[in-house]
Amino acid sequence: MKQVNTFDDILGSEKLTTYMKETAAVTPPHALMLTGEEGSGKKTLASLYAKALLCENPKRISGTRDMCEPCLTCQSCLQVAAGDHPDILMIAPEEGKAKGRRSISVKTIRETIAAGAYIKPYKGPYKIYLIDHAEKMTEEAQNALLKILEEPPAYIVIMLLATDEESLLATVRSRCVIFHTECVPDQTVTEYLQEYLMVPDYLARPAAAFARGNIGKAAELVSSETFRDQYAKVAWYFKKARFMEFDEIAEFAKEMAVDADTCDRYLELMQLFLRDVLTVRLSEGGSLFFGDEEETVRETARALSYKSVDTIEKQIYTVKERIEQNVAPDMLTEVLLAEIKEACI
Ligand SMILES: [Zn+2]
Repeated sequence: MKQVNTFDDILGSEKLTTYMKETAAVTPPHALMLTGEEGSGKKTLASLYAKALLCENPKRISGTRDMCEPCLTCQSCLQVAAGDHPDILMIAPEEGKAKGRRSISVKTIRETIAAGAYIKPYKGPYKIYLIDHAEKMTEEAQNALLKILEEPPAYIVIMLLATDEESLLATVRSRCVIFHTECVPDQTVTEYLQEYLMVPDYLARPAAAFARGNIGKAAELVSSETFRDQYAKVAWYFKKARFMEFDEIAEFAKEMAVDADTCDRYLELMQLFLRDVLTVRLSEGGSLFFGDEEETVRETARALSYKSVDTIEKQIYTVKERIEQNVAPDMLTEVLLAEIKEACI
């Protein structure tokens, strides 16, 4: 994985990294909230910011305003990197009384933040609290946190990482500086996967398209056996559908519909495949998502009329809609696969 050492290594979220570089050189906010989906880099950013704040020998960057980057070599930087800096305290959801429901309780907030906030930092200029999945704080926990946010000691920096800021109390939100971690363009994600994770082009592009700007998610996808398998299966189906017997089709339909997430991923891969088919039909240049299956894409493009592509796409859309309404998709995947077979003949 690419090492994120400096703010310039971060892809996207430029406004946020500039803000971090500037405030690390002057005064940080008492409460900073980073929102964005899983894998969008919230933790990486928070850790880098903590490093910059606690660094013993920060590198000044010359510019119109004061900015700084962590030096990466001082004892403090090394401790942050190793996850054992005494002035950084991590809080994450725990299993509560109700099984399977993880939350951050008022007890945790009281014991970790309320009890410790007024004790000065051990060595650095700041004491940093990092609350991961802050949206999992119970209302009581949020109210306890609010008390500290109302009168924070000068050296306190609380970072809240949340996937969904709306589930936090407005009173808490109003005390935080809020940034949303930005999505990164597909092309950048593709290049990242190729350059740093040595992912072949044919897999990097669909994974990037899939992850919609979420680098963490893209990296997870390309290393997932299941994703590679599903990708190959989709091309295989378009190639073989016209020769297949009904029971084989039914079997694949079942496999697709095993759960909502799997089904959704298959459907999206099919959409990407159809996009390739259209690219080839329209003789538009540009690389294909299914680049290593170009022959299959071309064959399918010869077999499918625009009208059949349209029919298949509508069917895909219908299946997606049903999944959203929590309807079991198995019958529908069968109809979809039969539709593809019919069209490919
Ligand atoms: Zn340092």
